[in-house]
Amino acid sequence: MPNLGLEIKRKCRLCGKVFLIKTLDSYYCCKKCSDAAYAKKKRTEAREKKLALIAKSVPKVSEFISVREAVAIYGVERGMLYLMIRRGDIPSINIGTKMTRLNRKDLEKAFVKRPIAKYIKETPLPKKYSLEPEDCYTIGEICEKYHINDSSVWAHVRKYSIPSRQIGNYVYVPKEEIDNLYKSEE
Ligand SMILES: [Zn+2]
Repeated sequence: MPNLGLEIKRKCRLCGKVFLIKTLDSYYCCKKCSDAAYAKKKRTEAREKKLALIAKSVPKVSEFISVREAVAIYGVERGMLYLMIRRGDIPSINIGTKMTRLNRKDLEKAFVKRPIAKYIKETPLPKKYSLEPEDCYTIGEICEKYHINDSSVWAHVRKYSIPSRQIGNYVYVPKEEIDNLYKSEE
């Protein structure tokens, strides 16, 4: 980003010190603060990911779940949850030492679920394509149908890893993929 011709002051997002920004995307007063903020962000992400994995592993049919699982599924900190259990805000049952179980229904009422999808990517099933000419467009047909030049089509085919097949002088690309690609850009 180019240097700004004007002086803009901002509060450092980490230490709160007011500083003169060098570029529009500077949010920290110094390298030390920006490094520390980055490390903090990474730690948070790692923790959220760990929680998401625990949350995902809890069977949907389990009516009673542990404190650890509750923390992973719902946006509540462990300390706060224990406090609420002690105060009786959240009903609990003890099935043994350190084996507190909570009813999901009570938790649903009290908390909002953490977003899991942000941290665990559902692995999509590998797509099967038909590269038979009747299921494909040639590059020329794509240009004509969508009014795009062939170098753009090629760039998109490469960018989105769309499979292609050459037969004689023609390159065939699955219709389905191309239609999805260009329709969604409207
Ligand atoms: Zn700072």
